[in-house]
Amino acid sequence: MLVKIDLHNHSCLSPCGSDDLTPALLSVEAMEQGIQILALTDHNCTRNLPAFAEACELCNLMGLYGIEVNTVEDVHVLVLFEKLQDAMEFGSFIEFLLPPIYNKPNLFGMQNIVNLEGEIIGTVDKLLISTSGISFNDVIEEGLSRDALVIPAHIDRNANSALANLGFLPDLPYSAVEAIRVPVAADIHGKTLLTGSDAHYLQHVGRRACYLEIPTLTFAGLKQGLASGKVSYTHP
Ligand SMILES: [Zn+2]
Ligand SMILES: [Zn+2]
Repeated sequence: MLVKIDLHNHSCLSPCGSDDLTPALLSVEAMEQGIQILALTDHNCTRNLPAFAEACELCNLMGLYGIEVNTVEDVHVLVLFEKLQDAMEFGSFIEFLLPPIYNKPNLFGMQNIVNLEGEIIGTVDKLLISTSGISFNDVIEEGLSRDALVIPAHIDRNANSALANLGFLPDLPYSAVEAIRVPVAADIHGKTLLTGSDAHYLQHVGRRACYLEIPTLTFAGLKQGLASGKVSYTHP
């Protein structure tokens, strides 16, 4: 089966994300666009994933519980879990590794934890766009050891990417690779190349969704689909 997927999106928890982009609005917008597999991947934090899980359930989406980790090299990596609880544990681990630098909301933006209704139920004090204390290699290894999907994010971006910050994409067992523009002028070691919306505003949701052939609409099916790599970037 061919599914529309979008594995890179933020919410109002990310300081650079719009305060209006709640997990519920993200999910509803994705559903309206026919996206079937959707991930929420806030910067270095998973605390909006419980609301996202409820929203995906209501919208009949297959949700992936994710985080966009900022490594010590300042490279962004998506780590995506099948189970909410596993993602929450990994999120606590990453948040703990963030330096004691605190957010200045009027400078960087709010870091709001919200419920399904979009009501603010808390805020995160540590600045979530800081560089965490985990290396690129270690986040790949740690994610895979926890049975997550690991995807270097926007490798062709001119900042916070493997190509910009490392100069190349190391040959590691990624689940897939994400770029903004395809094809990408880099050796991606035969991995499947995805595009993701990296939505920070409601109007960005779905802007770079892509289509993947998978055997079943399950986490295992998604893994198999990523391994066989039948992807298209426009509706076939
Ligand atoms: Zn990023
Ligand atoms: Zn992002």
